[in-house]
Amino acid sequence: MKRLNNILLLFSCIALMTWWFLSCKRNVPPREDISPPLTTGTDTVADPDTIVVDSRLTFQEAIAGTKAPDEILDQLVLIDVVYRSTDLKVHQGQILTNKKIEEDIREIFTFMLENNFVVEKAIPVVAYDWNDSLSMADNNSYSFCYRNISYSKHAKGLAIDINPRLNPLRWKNENRPNQPVGAVRDTTVNGTLYPGHVVVEEFKRRGFRWGHTFSKYYDDHHFEKQ
Ligand SMILES: [Zn+2]
Repeated sequence: MKRLNNILLLFSCIALMTWWFLSCKRNVPPREDISPPLTTGTDTVADPDTIVVDSRLTFQEAIAGTKAPDEILDQLVLIDVVYRSTDLKVHQGQILTNKKIEEDIREIFTFMLENNFVVEKAIPVVAYDWNDSLSMADNNSYSFCYRNISYSKHAKGLAIDINPRLNPLRWKNENRPNQPVGAVRDTTVNGTLYPGHVVVEEFKRRGFRWGHTFSKYYDDHHFEKQ
């Protein structure tokens, strides 16, 4: 009889522990409730913990030191963008741009990520002391850069340059160096644009003019909107 009591006690303990274990497990939310994984549009899924942060400025930091008048600054917005960089890791950068093309820029970055088009970095030009030549030489993608050149769409954030080093400005009929200097175009390299490229077509579909069609030079990294 005592032996039977012991066996019953043992079963009770096991049942109690099983119940306790299962109820603890139920209280733990599934992983996706904590932090949803980032879908890149391919089979690979990036963990938010592994995203490389290239830029995390406040708006005030992103416009610090610019000579642009308030009338232009009022038109600007700073947006976070996510892209696959040349190290093939997913990065988070920022684009300071005009509110008029904010949605286009957001959706084009999503489009580029989904199409596995590499963008090396996207950092507001304040990080280059407002020197767009340094920014271009660093293959940085950016939109707003105020210069006293009234015709430049960058002065109002209505243009964006994508991977300038991979898509250098090339003169058509003059023997002048590419910009950035020393940059060589190789259309087999991911991040390089050419006529018919899906990223070029996406910009055009949204009403952007591509710098490749300029009269004096092919400005392959440049897209602008009226
Ligand atoms: Zn440009």
